[in-house]
Amino acid sequence: MTIQEIWDKGKDILQAAGVLEYKTDAWLLLSYVTGISRAAFLCHRNMPISKEQEAYCNQLFAERAKRIPLQYLTGEQGFMGLTFQVNPYVLIPRQDTEILVEEAGKILKEKQDAKVLDLCTGSGCIIISLAYLYKFGLAVGADISGEALKVARENAKRHKVDVSFVQSDLFTGISGRFDIIVSNPPYICTGVIASLEPEVREYEPILALNGKEDGLYFYQNIIKQAEEYLVPGGDLLFEIGYDQGEQVSGLLAAYGYTDIKIKKDLAGLNRVCMGKRKVEKRCLIN
Ligand code: GLN
Repeated sequence: MTIQEIWDKGKDILQAAGVLEYKTDAWLLLSYVTGISRAAFLCHRNMPISKEQEAYCNQLFAERAKRIPLQYLTGEQGFMGLTFQVNPYVLIPRQDTEILVEEAGKILKEKQDAKVLDLCTGSGCIIISLAYLYKFGLAVGADISGEALKVARENAKRHKVDVSFVQSDLFTGISGRFDIIVSNPPYICTGVIASLEPEVREYEPILALNGKEDGLYFYQNIIKQAEEYLVPGGDLLFEIGYDQGEQVSGLLAAYGYTDIKIKKDLAGLNRVCMGKRKVEKRCLIN
């Protein structure tokens, strides 16, 4: 078969399986297997591919047709211009989450010795991107899942950044205080999970998605406990679901956080909610 023929075959298989981006996905699998670039393809469409490559393409098309996410087949996803290793133990990094990294980055420019904690780190994409892009004092990533931490450690090694990873159920394994806490916790309401795309609901880790009944479980717990782990005036930044801005900013306000802001993603949806831990007023007796 030629490169063009195998691509056409992949497109047909994926389209029949209901894959939305079937052309792109078939191409990406084909180029993953053959290593061929778009430019080379345009010049050599009729180049034959080997029997082994053809068999591997067919295998990957069949797996993608089962709606296994493309990134779990290729094992990678780009985020903040870096490539992250992924497997089914971690959520695939989303472009929306880059907004969280950018907002934390703006704060880091002003706080160059900052200690930064990333809760529910998963693949490590947030804290590793921050450590790669900015200079600061200490980077810690925490996750309840030991399997996720293996992926995060590999990613830190790949990008040669110094991040300590800790297995921890929210703050249980954390000590000390941080200047910045970031988190993209699980935030989908349990009842909504069944309506998500099959790629997400059947293959991404439910542990990383399920924010319990109202989707707010992790925000509530993190906001409440963060008082003990943030320095006064420290920043708490979350990724949020598009419809959670009011609730999460309300929770921050209820716990006395100040400077509460909501930031939108590139689609114009609320995506980040942030606030500062209050600075206690000292009562000076003289
Ligand atoms: N944004 C992810 C999704 O759309 C959910 C991420 C999360 O729960 N933290 O599937």
